Amino acid sequence: MRIRVGFGYDVHQLKEGRLCRLGGVEIPSDLGPDGHSDADVLLHAICDALLGAAGLRDIGFYFPNNNKFKNIRSPKMLKPILSILNKNNFYLNNLDINLICEKPKVSLYRNKIIKSLSRLLTVDENLINLKGKTVEKLGLIGNEEAIACEVIVSLNKYD
Ligand code: ZN
Repeated sequence: MRIRVGFGYDVHQLKEGRLCRLGGVEIPSDLGPDGHSDADVLLHAICDALLGAAGLRDIGFYFPNNNKFKNIRSPKMLKPILSILNKNNFYLNNLDINLICEKPKVSLYRNKIIKSLSRLLTVDENLINLKGKTVEKLGLIGNEEAIACEVIVSLNKYD
């Protein structure tokens, strides 16, 4: 058995009137991430971290920005990626997540998001850590124009 780690990063513009979905959870907010899909920045960063750990390229390779995937819900991107990992004998150990934004306030939705991730990833809630970070009002994220997410994951690879 080998341990592998992967790092994922994603950023989306925040726009008024866009639905705010984070980690598969719909969050009441006047601002939501904008993008080609549902723009769930957290699930996108998780997908990239998982693929990175497995050495299987990145989310854009499997889900390019074309009409076929327009407005796709991110759990529908995560699911096939998880099956690719399982087929290749990779199993998730744990994840650590930084969700970086001024709005929404992550602490209010932390438990809900962890529950949703636990269900989507079929791992125990105690293997998922979610940290909300602000940027002291600096730059695009500080100005509530963008939201970013960093994820590190650890996988076991069985031979
Ligand atoms: Zn994204």
